[in-house]
Amino acid sequence: MRPESLMMSYGYKPELSEGAIKCPIFQTSTFVFKNAEEGKAFFEVAYGLREKEENEELGLIYSRLNNPDLEILENRLSLWDKAGDCAVFESGMSAITSTLFEFLKPGDLLLHSAPVYGGTDHFIRKILTQYGIKTAEFRPHHTKEEIAEIIKKAEGTLKMIYLETPANPTNALIDIEMCKQLADEHSTNDQVLVAVDNTYMGPLWSHPLDHGADLVLYSATKYIGGHSDVVAGACLGSKELIARVKGFRTFVGNMAGPWTSWLLMRSLETLKVRMDQQAGNAEIIAHRLVDHPKVERVHYLGLLKEDSADYQIYKRQYSSPGAMLSFDVCGGEKEAFKVLNNMKLIKLAVSLGSTESLAQHPYTMTHADVDCEIKNELGLTEKMVRLSVGVENVEDIWNDIKGALDTI
Ligand SMILES: *Cc1c(COP(=O)(O)O)cnc(C)c1O
Repeated sequence: MRPESLMMSYGYKPELSEGAIKCPIFQTSTFVFKNAEEGKAFFEVAYGLREKEENEELGLIYSRLNNPDLEILENRLSLWDKAGDCAVFESGMSAITSTLFEFLKPGDLLLHSAPVYGGTDHFIRKILTQYGIKTAEFRPHHTKEEIAEIIKKAEGTLKMIYLETPANPTNALIDIEMCKQLADEHSTNDQVLVAVDNTYMGPLWSHPLDHGADLVLYSATKYIGGHSDVVAGACLGSKELIARVKGFRTFVGNMAGPWTSWLLMRSLETLKVRMDQQAGNAEIIAHRLVDHPKVERVHYLGLLKEDSADYQIYKRQYSSPGAMLSFDVCGGEKEAFKVLNNMKLIKLAVSLGSTESLAQHPYTMTHADVDCEIKNELGLTEKMVRLSVGVENVEDIWNDIKGALDTI
């Protein structure tokens, strides 16, 4: 069965919870062992003192290690990307930072695409480097040869390639398979890992593991949560790699709690209908924006020209143009602000992927901290407005945008 059919029931046994059709919130810090022998057996498995026997499951011990809401959520989330396992955290940033800390050590080189999410950028540049981890970056338009040259010139031994595609907010694309080839070519006994932050397009419209990525990261605050009411994150990959991420998580203690896990399970039931509706709305909005006289340019994957370099990557990696788009208004900051200030239905807020439509000004908001030179090179200018299209009636969304555009 397909994931959307399994989100209501997978991994949950009503008979273990008084017949409740929904998984209750297991608001408990610790779990009672039947006897001392069982407690001993659970700890042996949890601490890796012995391998699991056939059909043996990790018993419930303590909610920093495991909890039914967290485990069922992780099993369900794994289905979308067909991942071996999944680790869920209290935020996207904790998923990203824990994964980087687990796999990188002093002297290693982290090669990453630029720009990345502001929080990730700060963590890589200001925090990872304090631990002797070397970093280098590449841009979406760089060729394989150019990236190989960047690796050669950088200090440190390449250990991970980290990318965000499509790039926020321009929707520029990066070829995951090309990054996988680079990773293989630079691997010795130690495999160079490819990690993809798939927040923008996942887990419905893109599955990086199918294109050679080893790890997929999400801010579950965005589409997965989808209601602007929870902050969470996830890392997915093979059982072996996620066992390492979960080991790190146990000792840092940033796992998602039962209430967060329950909210995300609730959200996963409607993930596909929400995202389908959002993408359908975005397609209509994007095409109408193109024809609006006050709009100079629309950055939307559904508008890529068939002869562009990005089009091939787009066809291979994505099953939909998504529901994130940006547009340049005629003018500059003043005109962009006027549009934002005159939207009524669409809320002026950062974040993305939720049921309500959101708009913001990347130049002075989400990307305020990015070098002006890089912003200009990327075409991220003061006239750009970023839109996360929600599930509202598309005519109401369009009337709101049109009304705001008509004020300039
Ligand atoms: C929001 C976001 C993050 C950070 O996630 P939080 O849940 O806010 O910690 C990371 N990457 C991308 C692409 C994001 O949009």
